[in-house]
Amino acid sequence: MLPRHARVVARLLERLPGVGERTAARYVLHLLSSEPALTTALARALEELHVRVRPCERCGNLAEVDPERVESPILCDICADPRRDGSLLCVVARVQDLSAIERSGAMRGRYFVLGKLVSPLEGVGPDDLPLERLRARIVEEGVREVIVATPPSVDGEATALLLARELAQTGAQVSRIASGVPHGSDLEFADQVTLGRAIAGRRTGGA
Ligand SMILES: [Zn+2]
Repeated sequence: MLPRHARVVARLLERLPGVGERTAARYVLHLLSSEPALTTALARALEELHVRVRPCERCGNLAEVDPERVESPILCDICADPRRDGSLLCVVARVQDLSAIERSGAMRGRYFVLGKLVSPLEGVGPDDLPLERLRARIVEEGVREVIVATPPSVDGEATALLLARELAQTGAQVSRIASGVPHGSDLEFADQVTLGRAIAGRRTGGA
């Protein structure tokens, strides 16, 4: 049994994904047997995480900010990169999905992170999605094609259908990434080649 404070730290670590009771205890014991400088550095870095890394105000991706001089709007590297194709916008559910698509190297355009998917079971409806902001971006930035890269799950498909309908009036073509990513799986865990193919083989119409 670990001493009380060590258990406090272990309980906190257990709140991270993939960390169970045993792994948390292993981490705590490892930290206690390492140089104290490691825990100090870790604590400092964690404390600054929310201060230095903030959501991009344009797309929802994560952006590095200098806390001394916060620029407005806060933009991520992708939004700030003039070499990106502004006519192509990829809509994803989460930042993890954006990172997975970036790793595949198949996307030349920019992104929009929805933050959630419509889910009747969890009580998330169309009004809970940032559709107004998405439409505004499409119009303001002259987006010609919206690639919907929501996951191949029930909620992901429902969201893709909703987007095809809701974005029709913007004049942008709405396409859906091709299947190939196993149904119900997270894009995050799809391999880069599969994801690259899914984007290259995207389809328009009928969602
Ligand atoms: Zn951005």
